[in-house]
Amino acid sequence: MKVADLMDSMEYGPAPESTEQAHAWLDDHNRRFGHFINGTWKKPKGAKTFKTKNPATGNVLGTITQGEQADVDGAVKAARTAQVGWAKLGGHGRARYLYALARLVQKHARHLAVLETLDNGKPIRESRDIDVPLVARHFYHHAGWAQLMDREFQDQVPLGVIGQIVPWNFPLLMLAWKIAPALAAGNTVVLKPAEFTSLTALRFAELCDEAGLPPGVVNIVTGDGRTGEMIVNHKDVNKIAFTGSTAVGSLIRKQTAGSGKKLSLELGGKSPFIVFPDADLDSAIEGVVDAIWFNQGQVCCAGSRLLVQEGIAKTFVEKLKLRMQSLRTGDPMDKCMDMGAIIDPTQLKQIDKLVKIGVREGAVLWQADCALPEKGSFYPPTLLENVTPSSTVAQQEIFGPVLTVTTFRTPVEAVELANNTRYGLAASVWSENINLALDVAPALKAGVVWINTTNQLDAAAGFGGYRESGFGREGGREGMYEYLKPAFEKDLRPAVKTVANKAKSGVSKTTTKLLLDRTPKLYIGGKQSRPDSGYSRPAYGADGMLLGEVGEGNRKDIRNAVEAAFKASAWAKADTHNRAQILYYIAENLSARAREFAETLRAMTGGSAAAAGLEVETAISRLFTYGAWADKYDGAVHSPPLRGVTLAMNEPMGIIGIACPDTKPLLGLVSLMAPAIAMGNRVVVIPSEHHPLSATDFYQVLDTSDLPGGVVNIVTGGRDELSFALAGHDQVDGVWYFGSAEGSAEIERLSARTIKRTWVNNGLERDFLDGVQGEGQEFLRHATEVKNIWIPYGE
Ligand code: NDP
Repeated sequence: MKVADLMDSMEYGPAPESTEQAHAWLDDHNRRFGHFINGTWKKPKGAKTFKTKNPATGNVLGTITQGEQADVDGAVKAARTAQVGWAKLGGHGRARYLYALARLVQKHARHLAVLETLDNGKPIRESRDIDVPLVARHFYHHAGWAQLMDREFQDQVPLGVIGQIVPWNFPLLMLAWKIAPALAAGNTVVLKPAEFTSLTALRFAELCDEAGLPPGVVNIVTGDGRTGEMIVNHKDVNKIAFTGSTAVGSLIRKQTAGSGKKLSLELGGKSPFIVFPDADLDSAIEGVVDAIWFNQGQVCCAGSRLLVQEGIAKTFVEKLKLRMQSLRTGDPMDKCMDMGAIIDPTQLKQIDKLVKIGVREGAVLWQADCALPEKGSFYPPTLLENVTPSSTVAQQEIFGPVLTVTTFRTPVEAVELANNTRYGLAASVWSENINLALDVAPALKAGVVWINTTNQLDAAAGFGGYRESGFGREGGREGMYEYLKPAFEKDLRPAVKTVANKAKSGVSKTTTKLLLDRTPKLYIGGKQSRPDSGYSRPAYGADGMLLGEVGEGNRKDIRNAVEAAFKASAWAKADTHNRAQILYYIAENLSARAREFAETLRAMTGGSAAAAGLEVETAISRLFTYGAWADKYDGAVHSPPLRGVTLAMNEPMGIIGIACPDTKPLLGLVSLMAPAIAMGNRVVVIPSEHHPLSATDFYQVLDTSDLPGGVVNIVTGGRDELSFALAGHDQVDGVWYFGSAEGSAEIERLSARTIKRTWVNNGLERDFLDGVQGEGQEFLRHATEVKNIWIPYGE
């Protein structure tokens, strides 16, 4: 074709990126790769292997080794040995290595990008301009956290050995998201790349060697899901960091339950892309392109559900179809391609299957009229119109270049539709009206919200989800906490088992009046309510005398309490000054009855008058602490590399179930309840099972403190039975459990079904009287979700 012809048609010419050097690298390794363990390459004799292929052609690129138990054991051992020295190196020492890795990624950027595109099928334009620069950025940013670690995270220590499992959609970027913060914090790692895409992880291992990283700090073990499972179940691993499907995430939650391993899960999504009528429609169209056709839609935070206002829907979809016609799908090594190949024929089949289900359920299919390469796994940009909110394709992650279209009328309806999903990873909002956009953003249940932009990622801004999109954040300060633990934790000992006080006949003198005056009740929705069971349980004093009775709560009472908490949702929006005032008021009212509370404590626990007095005074002080924090735990404003800002907002989690410890019955309850409500959560509290009377007295204090009904609900009874009901309840967003090791394990297991956030004590006892163990930002972090709202500006 002549240039003159090109001027007529304005067609793109081919612009191929050379793969020569990447192939030369593969040849240098004889196209066979082992594991990188303890700084050396291991190719176990007779090991099973599998092939890694180029998704754009189906050609085999190399042979990868299947990791077995001995390999995983060796890698964990190497990581364990290396961890001591790595942590001792100090923040600055580690920062130098992370900086060296960042520089090496930049130096070999093109090589890494080409290798990534060969192995994954994503357009070179993306691996070159997005993935690899973000990898370097992540190592730079975390070199910074390592440098600042000794000052910024003074009360924290590294976890130890981290097992990391990454998916195939952003192989090197996900590796960077996992390895950089782990190393910055002083941990060592064993990472397993996805079976489809091991090559860039193996190339990265060489960069670790080139940077002179001490052996054992980074270990890469290749293999399929079975190798991942061996890492998850390894006894000497302190944390699992996983990115992948919700199904495997849920399985990992179950497998790690009760092991004491820390866990972060970055799972799937079905993110809404909301277009209001006053949006800049042409910009929004480009937004859709980036939202769903970036990386062929194989993106956990892909904007896969277009929600467009009814009045502009027709115009918008017409414009979109026109734009789709100009998208180019084909050889990912061609620099002019918009879309490359789908990772594997199995994924292609899955996409096709879901699209067909969508059509069967009434969606109208529209695909861009583009010629696809004959070889390789390709799927055209696809639109499914007329999609109802409950249909399979609106609910299930397709993980392909498929956009569903649904219309809405009002902003309220848009938010409802957006939140009508089990996921909560990301959302994109398009409107030129800043009032509307900033009103909608906090209402969306998603860890990341992009206003008039989409799929923006940066190391300084935490990334992660709500609900079944997982828990934990990657990036930013909050991401660092995922790889740290409070220094005092290593000194915690198993709680001394408290048993119910033995019954003697007779009634304690101090409480005769109390028993005569009251029938035992629960506290639900701001009212005293009779337990559903109709039964009560006696509470004996330390002297064995009957002190009082409390209601015997059951699952039905838990359901009622959760419903009351659900109705009290206005508390999340109450201004922080208002919440602070109420906490101070609760403190004031507790103070007015301090002596009486101390007497009950003394009678229940048999402690000294001084100890009981100290517990009450500390509880009052703690309420002040969270009254103070209510309007000060503010979040942050990040300055990522864009013209704009990112607001990191500390949002309430929602409804938290809290099982209180037996020791310090009043202080334990206050120390857990107060930070939760200070941050805008509603709670269902199960007080100390053996010493419940402080709690039933406490609801009288709440009653007189202007706390709206339903914000705090108290259900007395068997701690485990009631908290297990909370862990299994779909409307509960998180469970805090301070009880036995076995109970902690069960809570984690039960939370797996809906990927609930949990905070359990694993049967260890913390000292709630202690100012470090008993209060502070650790509690506030557990009580909040960080939402990052991206706001670009400028005309
Ligand atoms: P998986 O969740 O199966 O894989 C993610 C990673 O976990 C891979 O390294 C995988 O190994 C490993 N793995 C698999 N099973 C286990 C296990 N039992 N224990 C420990 N590790 C395990 O995702 P798939 O690759 O199978 O993709 C399936 C679907 O998941 C996609 O269609 C998409 O919907 C979703 N997905 C979501 C991603 C996200 O970023 N949120 C990323 C990838 C997929 P291996 O690949 O070698 O088998």
